[in-house]
Amino acid sequence: MPAPIYLDHAATTPVRREVFEAMEPFYGPRFGNPSSTHRWGREARAALDEARERIAQCLGAHTDEICFTSGGTEADNLAILGPWRARDTRRTAIISTPIEHKAVLASVHQAAREGAEERIAPVTSTGVVDVDAFSALLGDDVALCSIMWVNNEIGTIQPIPELARRAKPYGIVFHTDAVQAFGKIPIDVSDTPVDLLTISGHKLGAPKGSGAIFIRRGTPLESLLHGGSQDRGRRPGTENVAAAVGLARAAELAIEEREREMARLGALRDRLEAALLARVPDAVVHGRGAPRAAHILNLSVPGTDSESLLMALDLAGVACSSGSACQSGNVTPSHVLAALGVSRELASAAVRMSLGALTTDESVTRVAELFPALIAKARRLAGAVS
Ligand SMILES: *Cc1c(COP(=O)(O)O)cnc(C)c1O
Repeated sequence: MPAPIYLDHAATTPVRREVFEAMEPFYGPRFGNPSSTHRWGREARAALDEARERIAQCLGAHTDEICFTSGGTEADNLAILGPWRARDTRRTAIISTPIEHKAVLASVHQAAREGAEERIAPVTSTGVVDVDAFSALLGDDVALCSIMWVNNEIGTIQPIPELARRAKPYGIVFHTDAVQAFGKIPIDVSDTPVDLLTISGHKLGAPKGSGAIFIRRGTPLESLLHGGSQDRGRRPGTENVAAAVGLARAAELAIEEREREMARLGALRDRLEAALLARVPDAVVHGRGAPRAAHILNLSVPGTDSESLLMALDLAGVACSSGSACQSGNVTPSHVLAALGVSRELASAAVRMSLGALTTDESVTRVAELFPALIAKARRLAGAVS
């Protein structure tokens, strides 16, 4: 059996060796609490401050604008509920899109339970927010916009600089979930008027449970947690120093390598996409034609279903994902594909292949070679259950 192929980098990535090595001392001799005033504490504080500074540099932010979190989900919750609860109460609406990550969707729904009016900016059939339709939702009554930079299921890039510029004259707080964008496309908050931006460590070679949020100076924000005064009270609790150090190292490496690595992955993704379409001509690639990040390919093959195809792929040693939630064996068709107007039938056949550090030329060639037989198998499986 050949080595298994991991094509699920949008779900998580392995911790990079350099990151692991940077973190290791903080599980050993450098174990101090950054709030302690003795030498152990001062050493931990210095490491934490340095990590914050390095992440700020990667984003074009000021050091005091970086707040560490337990990952993307917590950062999204803080980015939405924080400004919502601190808003000028004359502002009653939140603008978002139907293709956000669950962490954003559920946080906006929580704000709605607290009285917010949800305004949903529509997306085109290729999965990009319609700028004019978005602009029509703007007004002085809007507290917050939350729009992701790169979609985690189909990889489409949203025109965040343009959307943020449109929202700015209204004094609206603008959040973007950049978990799938950071390290993949250029990001600089010094020339993009976003107020809050989410990143997650485990999508870029840092550990699960690491993450950060950029909070522009002056952004009104109520913290979600209550406790000590760590991270300016925005995120109380003893800091995860090792995770912060690991995230900083991973972020720097991702920025350093971005252009070369994304050129590599983009070429591999395009080759994979072309090869799959050549072998299975009725396959439909979602988000095709829109600007897409290099690392994500999402496609449906009529007559299959995600579950059968993922099982066939897994048995052949290829790990992919459906990109949508699997509940008790039933794959619920993706809310993202539904928003694009993809039929329920086609959406329930979607498979996401996401490329990254583990993806090689040979792995792409092999998946392309295996694909037609796996499709035939998935079609038999799908036929057998329906
Ligand atoms: C993975 C992901 C998240 C959640 O991040 P966690 O660190 O896993 O909580 C949020 N948004 C997007 C777009 C993601 O891909």
